[in-house]
Amino acid sequence: MKANLIASTSPDLGKDDQIVVTGAGGFIGGALVRRFHEQGFTKIRAVDKKPLPQWYQRVPGTEVLCMDLSEKENAIRAVEGAVEVYNLAADMGGMGFIERFRVECLRSILINTHLVEAAYRAGVQRYFFSSSACAYNTTLQQDPNVVALKESDAYPAMAERGYGWEKLISEMFCQEYWAERGMKTAIARFHNVYGPHGTWYGGREKAPAALSRKVVEAIDSGLIATPINLGSAEMVSINQLVSVVEQVAGVKLERRYKLDAPLGVAGRNSDNTFIKQVLDWEPSTSLRAGMEKTYQWIKSQYYDRKAGKSVVTESPVALPG
Ligand code: NAD
Repeated sequence: MKANLIASTSPDLGKDDQIVVTGAGGFIGGALVRRFHEQGFTKIRAVDKKPLPQWYQRVPGTEVLCMDLSEKENAIRAVEGAVEVYNLAADMGGMGFIERFRVECLRSILINTHLVEAAYRAGVQRYFFSSSACAYNTTLQQDPNVVALKESDAYPAMAERGYGWEKLISEMFCQEYWAERGMKTAIARFHNVYGPHGTWYGGREKAPAALSRKVVEAIDSGLIATPINLGSAEMVSINQLVSVVEQVAGVKLERRYKLDAPLGVAGRNSDNTFIKQVLDWEPSTSLRAGMEKTYQWIKSQYYDRKAGKSVVTESPVALPG
């Protein structure tokens, strides 16, 4: 079975066709809604369980639904009349979150399971699922000098506990809805995605945003010293990332290593042979350029928050009571 499907763009999608983006209050979903809006699509439905003030981006002229998509009835409502559905909703975060909250991550299976069935029943033409590099076999990623991962490296399966297995089985749902029921599905396995308008504090932030915030904090506190989450095998990549943020910020920090913090896999990078073949494209933003933008945005959010101005707030991460 082909392990990964990447969507070609949809040349036959009309400007007035109904598009649904879930997880639209989050980082990637929010960016996707903005992109569709800029391209002139007129019927965009943005769905997320977060209350509207917590959305990173609110795009004018889009329909907004605040609802929990792990409930079947909500999933049915969300895809009404849709031609294309982009499922970016998941309970997720950086390594600290996915190692600590495996049940929450696994429960995202409910979102995709209800949504893909509802989409099929509603006659949706194309359905997109956002998977993750955490679906890959973890035994291939125990050395920091890992070989780039090919799509076929997800099998034999030994995904990241919790989050990765949820992604792998949801991928399979999507593949079988196409194979058996004929609804076209597409799956992208995102590697670490970062940039402005994403989580930068509260417990769900990933390394690029967390490090940017820590450098801002260090400068602000005048300490020029910050604890850095790190495990021995991951040391090289995290250290390099810290150096990039230091260059962007124009500072040099004293490094202290917290060896008991969540580690994740030792190293990971993407073999882009397949995406180049299918889309004749691969991500081109350099780490330096991407981190420059991310850092500057987080810095402005940080000082706005400090000055008492309103910034997007995240609910603190906690186990349900
Ligand atoms: P994000 O946390 O910013 O956005 C996810 C959104 O989903 C959040 O706004 C959240 O409120 C919403 N959500 C969670 N549970 C929901 C529910 N039950 N009903 C409705 N909405 C719900 O994350 P992101 O970085 O934008 O990631 C988007 C997708 O891409 C996710 O599926 C994620 O697993 C995947 N992904 C992201 C990365 C990355 O580096 N950002 C890497 C691999 C995969």
